[in-house]
Amino acid sequence: MASSLPPRSSYLKKENAGTARREMGLKVAPRRNVLSAINNGEANGGAPSAPADGGGAEAAPVVEFGGREDVERLLAEKMKGKSKNDFKGRNEQMSDYIKKLRACIRWYMELEDGYLAEQEKLRSTLDAENSRHTELEAQLSNAIEELKAANLDLTRRCESLEETLNREKSEKLIAVESYEKEKQERESAERSRDVLTVELERATHDAKRFSEQLKMVQDTNKRLQEYNTSLQQYNSNLQADASKSGETISKLQKEKSAMMETMAALRECHNSMSSQLESSRASQQEAIRVKEELRKEVECRRAESKQVRDDRDHAVAQLNSLNIELATCKEQFGRASKECECMSTKVSALEETCNTQQEQIQTLQKQLAVATDKLKLADVTAIEAMTGYEEQKEKIKYLEDRLAHAESQIVEGDELRKKLHNTILELKGNIRVFCRVRPLLRFDGDSNGPEGASISFPTSVESAGRAIDLMNQGQKLSFSYDKVFDHNASQEDVFVEISQLVQSALDGYKVCIFAYGQTGSGKTYTMMGKSGIDQKGIIPRSLEQIFKTSQSLESQGWKYSMQASMLEIYNESIRDLLAPGRPNSFDMTTSKQYTIKHDSHGNTTVSDLTIIDVFSIADVTNLLEKASHSRSVGKTQMNEQSSRSHFVFTLKISGSNEVNMSKGSLT
Ligand code: ADP
Ligand code: MG
Repeated sequence: MASSLPPRSSYLKKENAGTARREMGLKVAPRRNVLSAINNGEANGGAPSAPADGGGAEAAPVVEFGGREDVERLLAEKMKGKSKNDFKGRNEQMSDYIKKLRACIRWYMELEDGYLAEQEKLRSTLDAENSRHTELEAQLSNAIEELKAANLDLTRRCESLEETLNREKSEKLIAVESYEKEKQERESAERSRDVLTVELERATHDAKRFSEQLKMVQDTNKRLQEYNTSLQQYNSNLQADASKSGETISKLQKEKSAMMETMAALRECHNSMSSQLESSRASQQEAIRVKEELRKEVECRRAESKQVRDDRDHAVAQLNSLNIELATCKEQFGRASKECECMSTKVSALEETCNTQQEQIQTLQKQLAVATDKLKLADVTAIEAMTGYEEQKEKIKYLEDRLAHAESQIVEGDELRKKLHNTILELKGNIRVFCRVRPLLRFDGDSNGPEGASISFPTSVESAGRAIDLMNQGQKLSFSYDKVFDHNASQEDVFVEISQLVQSALDGYKVCIFAYGQTGSGKTYTMMGKSGIDQKGIIPRSLEQIFKTSQSLESQGWKYSMQASMLEIYNESIRDLLAPGRPNSFDMTTSKQYTIKHDSHGNTTVSDLTIIDVFSIADVTNLLEKASHSRSVGKTQMNEQSSRSHFVFTLKISGSNEVNMSKGSLT
């Protein structure tokens, strides 16, 4: 597997400061182009390297880290050796340094764990708070909606109540007006009644007076009648007197005649008699005068009586008219009192209506007050809810701040971890060489003899797992590597050693792993493996780890995109294994001319190579499957051609972080 990337400049510096590397069998050459490393002769190409010096068994000093200063100091620590060849001393220092670094990494891992846990906690709290917030918001919006609805309802009711109130008020006003009018009318009626009563009283009084007058007139009349009667009597008396006087006159005349007769005889007496007559005549005249006077008096009396009668008639007529007037007045009075009663009943009815309306108004006012109270209460509740909401918001903000702080700390820690990881890998050796021994297979035959006889693994403390002894024609050859995997080593065991490099690739360093060995020695098996859970090789396992880690890093804001390409170098020419529509094709003449290019960032690319975006391990598995079908030579064929075929799988990882705005890609 080859990986390279144009990382941040700091990484590049690290790249260029690559130190010596070792290799054989399996090569592990991080952050440097392998081919160039080989060409530069830094690698020994399978030659045994010097056995490692002893001294690795010393007890590890306990290293404590108190903070970043310690780490910085550790990073700044320089390797001191007595001389360039004082490997032992350097080795000790190295192992000391490695231990410190391990402790440091442990410390960082613990720190990171702590951070992660805290982040997780904060995240969960934030989630919970968010959900609570959302819930609260929903509740609040519900409550606000309800309150709004209630408010609207109340406002509407209030409006309708106000309307009713206004209507009632206007009605009341009208009623009051009509009441006032009625009152005025009643008052005027009362006034007219009073007037009428006064008039009646006056009329009664007049009537009384008139009746008194009448009585008086009647009395006068009676008296006049009596007087008249008496006058008549007197008149008759006078008439009787007159008749008597006439009789007397006639008698006297008779006497005169007799006298006259006797005048002659009684001339003497005649004179006397004449005088007598004269006197009688005077008395008669006197009597006539009296009679005339009396007649005049009678006439006067009669006129008086007539006058009195007329007066009486007039009084009677007046009385009648007064009676009529009285009746009219009484009638009017009755009507007025009826009206008055009617008015009173109306007034009482109106008062009743007014009272009921007043009661209604009071109840409405009470309702209005209750509604206003409710509204106030609702307002208070809304305000409380708002304050609660504000508090929650502040809390969330605080938590978000803390989360951001924790995230920034994590990012810092991550940066430091990357640095340290890289330092460790550099210390382990930028180029590492592993050796893997495959078990004997059925077709191996006896040419190599029994395994145990030709190969042995030293078990001494210093070289356990790091050395291999071979017997060749009775001669023992010892080799030491960074790691030796015996025939019992599983695919998993091999991958454990590789996995840290995969992390480096994700951190943005260039990583190249390649397998080297004789045909049939197990390169394909180691790199690709076989189908079956435990048989998977480095490539699928690395891809699994890459996808898993990239997914877990998504939570820290990292987004990765991956592109895969596969080529085969066959007979010194390049073949695109993912070229569309050309599976199993051996037709070299029609294939494109692929060229290898190196850019200024130290990246190596092959032009016109098919690059396919991959999103999951399944995608890559499919591509590997396709590539294995396209390869020129079957895996197990141990022949000339097979050794001429080299398979290169390239995965380009591009990562960007929106949180800390970093970007990077590697191939
Ligand atoms: P290469 O690719 O180096 O030519 P292969 O990977 O094809 O060799 O291996 C040759 C044979 O050996 C294959 O059948 C493979 O299954 C088998 N083999 C290689 N290494 C192991 C191992 N560690 N355990 C079991 N079988 C192995
Ligand atoms: Mg092979």
